[in-house]
Amino acid sequence: MSQYILTVDQGTTSSRAIIYTPDLQVIASGQEEFKQHYPNNGWVEHEPDDIWQTVLRSCRKAMVKAGASASDVQGIGITNQRETTLVWDKHSGEPVGRAIVWQDRRTADICESLEEQGFASVFHQSTGLRLDPYFSGTKLKWILDNVEGARERAENGDLLFGTVDTFLLWRFSKGQVHATDATNAARTLMFNIHSQEWDQKLLDILGVPERMLPEVKDNAADFGQCDAEWLGRDIPICSMIGDQHSALVGQACFQPGMIKSTYGTGCFAVLNTGDQIRVSDHNLLTTVGYRLQGKTTYALEGSIFMAGAIIQWLRDGLGLIERASDVEQLTESVPYDQSEIMVPAFTGLGAPYWDPNARAAIFGMTRDTGAKQLVAAAIHSVALQSADLLRAMERDGVEVNTLRVDGGMVKNRGFLQALASITGVETVTSNTAEATAQGATMLAAMQLGHYDSLDALAQLWQAKEHYQPRLKAAERDALYQRWQRVVEKVRSESSD
Ligand code: ADP
Repeated sequence: MSQYILTVDQGTTSSRAIIYTPDLQVIASGQEEFKQHYPNNGWVEHEPDDIWQTVLRSCRKAMVKAGASASDVQGIGITNQRETTLVWDKHSGEPVGRAIVWQDRRTADICESLEEQGFASVFHQSTGLRLDPYFSGTKLKWILDNVEGARERAENGDLLFGTVDTFLLWRFSKGQVHATDATNAARTLMFNIHSQEWDQKLLDILGVPERMLPEVKDNAADFGQCDAEWLGRDIPICSMIGDQHSALVGQACFQPGMIKSTYGTGCFAVLNTGDQIRVSDHNLLTTVGYRLQGKTTYALEGSIFMAGAIIQWLRDGLGLIERASDVEQLTESVPYDQSEIMVPAFTGLGAPYWDPNARAAIFGMTRDTGAKQLVAAAIHSVALQSADLLRAMERDGVEVNTLRVDGGMVKNRGFLQALASITGVETVTSNTAEATAQGATMLAAMQLGHYDSLDALAQLWQAKEHYQPRLKAAERDALYQRWQRVVEKVRSESSD
């Protein structure tokens, strides 16, 4: 009898596959990194075949490790890096070029020109997003404008567009299914989050023929079959969901006001706002949290570019530490009122500033400043950026009580205590280190009939450690005000 769920987590630098039992025990996993291509300044690309082959090999590896044959796998779930854009030939399956990755900034000019033509507000109102190269829409426009013959082939119905979920589904199903899910669609700049349909007026502005777009489904749905050629038998694909949305589900944030924050390379905070679309007045994104049985749960999202990446810089750029875990000892006993404060705008600032030109700075150094203070300033800066996001959410009218956290940085207890103290919000880790893969697994398990409601899924989530704020409100406010002053200094310096 088949007993496992196979979940694919297709990320920016690696592909992973994990074999779960329906009650979320991890049996085995497989993982492969793949090459990043940087053909021009600000460009980031992935070879579509690398994405596909690393996924396929990871699935096979995980199955071998688990001692599982295809008949042991009941269904497949997919979660993925969002916004990354692919276009391929509908008949041959041949991509027209490499995938343009979410980090790629080549369409900054297109975004500026659309903004000058006065289109920012229509995109914001319909999609909840900003006119920023981050999202798929202008990447797709770039392909249609720049790849020879692409626009004509697209208009003739010979080319298909997809984000990574769609591309994997199309490959898994051997071209039988061209579909996406509402969360991935919501990151394209072409999907109307109110009507839950592709938005014709936005497609006209971008010059995208609707016939190249995938069908948009719920997150738990019948997505068709993974063909027997790949894993040994036809296996149903039961869930698809973008990675940050999947972590929201994996952390069981099913009630309005519940929030998760993932601290990996960057940090992504996603807040459940229930059936209400909240258009942020404080530069957060509005998005689809998840969509089940045709019912959409909305979310507010804030992202910061540098979180764990600052620790990588301390290690690889400065050589201050040997391993990321070394920061744990160094940050055990550093006071919050140390004079050093870091604004980690190495690649600009994300939400709520959206300032691509800002550059990093460290303020307040003295002759006593050493590795310990720099590491603490780095850790504090991730907490201070999180405070920016939480305060923006509160100013948008949502009270945040508890923060559920995951990602590589949550191994660091000093960081988690700083996070609680500096944001003033209780911080909680859970029994899973892998909230992202867990969300897609939970949805697949629901689609396969193991659970009949979100309440039943919520029972699977268990708190592990709680961190309470330890700073007095006045101290917290003083630190936050200082942070705001130094962020302003950094921003005014870069705008000169
Ligand atoms: P991603 O999915 O973005 O690749 P992960 O969730 O795997 O990221 O987290 C990796 C990040 O976590 C790295 O940037 C690393 O610097 C950071 N990290 C790992 N261990 C620690 C630690 N003990 N303390 C602080 N940061 C850490």
